[in-house]
Amino acid sequence: MTRVFNFSPGPATLPESVLRKAAEEMLDWHGSGMSVMEMSHRGKEFISIHAEAESLLRELLGVPAHYKVLFMQGGAIGENAIVPMNLMGKSGKADYVSTGDWSKKSIKEAKTYGKVNVAASGEGSNFTAIPRQGEWKLDPQASYVHICSNETIGGVEYHWTPDPGTVPLVADMSSNILSRPVDVSKYGLIYAGAQKNMGPSGVTLVIVRDDLLGQALPITPSAFNYQLQAENDSMYNTPPTYAIYIAGLVCRYIKGQGGLKAMEARNRAKAAILYDYLDDSAFYRNPVAKEDRSLMNVPFKLKDDSLDDAFLKGAQAKGMIQLKGHRSVGGMRASIYNAMPIEGVKSLVAYMKEFEAQHG
Ligand SMILES: *Cc1c(COP(=O)(O)O)cnc(C)c1O
Repeated sequence: MTRVFNFSPGPATLPESVLRKAAEEMLDWHGSGMSVMEMSHRGKEFISIHAEAESLLRELLGVPAHYKVLFMQGGAIGENAIVPMNLMGKSGKADYVSTGDWSKKSIKEAKTYGKVNVAASGEGSNFTAIPRQGEWKLDPQASYVHICSNETIGGVEYHWTPDPGTVPLVADMSSNILSRPVDVSKYGLIYAGAQKNMGPSGVTLVIVRDDLLGQALPITPSAFNYQLQAENDSMYNTPPTYAIYIAGLVCRYIKGQGGLKAMEARNRAKAAILYDYLDDSAFYRNPVAKEDRSLMNVPFKLKDDSLDDAFLKGAQAKGMIQLKGHRSVGGMRASIYNAMPIEGVKSLVAYMKEFEAQHG
């Protein structure tokens, strides 16, 4: 068996030990005689799996007691509608900060449910920098302020936490959740699809402060009503059981590695190898402002884009896949989530040097 270095933005690489554990437990979970996939979500076996996943997430992220942890379906794009359906009712309007493709999608979707004020936009810099809070035009009447903490496509990431005062801060953390410590108490709500850094697609994590429950618009489907899901331990409908199980194994792996501080140190070291090389090279470049560069998704361009195909082919031949950039920005993108080993990044940089020497 040969595993590739998979630089996919998502669904993305998972820790090999997690996959091995899942394989080992596939046919018979802990002597139950069943696969996790076959279990009733109301049986004691799955209830214990669900409870462990929740308690590990609470522990890793330091989630305060007055927040609910929900496992939902519909992904982050689902949450783009579910968040306004649940929270916009307070004043009928919300502030959004636009930092790239994912926040633009969130804004477009939210407009169906109320009045959206784009409080700030990175458009002026072609989304290569995050507008500082001093430039934001916040509305004190807004029901919430929405940000995308890491733009998976453009490769910009918040390395600071906005402070909108008493207005709740809502963040799409799909592509940087669990990559570093977060002060959950600074947020009203955090959501994240699992398939970047937490597990397989199919489960969406929602962390929501208790006082934000119970304000859903009447049109909100029951399965997407935070309060109903909170009252039912995320089991108002059948939850994505297998995805929750794998997310639990990923959390256990992260805890075993030393938790989120250790993850951050590793992620910083990995990203530095790549960014340092990009900055030294005249052949490759990353357009993002240094202080806003993502530790998770590193887009870069070759000096001559007619070499892109050769670059990708050569990488593939060396077991490095999914390096093609998003079609909206072109070039390359290396997604280096928690589960990408440092060897993967070193191997990529070694290949980039070799390619530059041949074609530069
Ligand atoms: C991947 C991603 C999404 C979309 O997730 P879906 O599971 O397709 O709904 C939304 N926001 C961010 C930041 C992402 O990285």
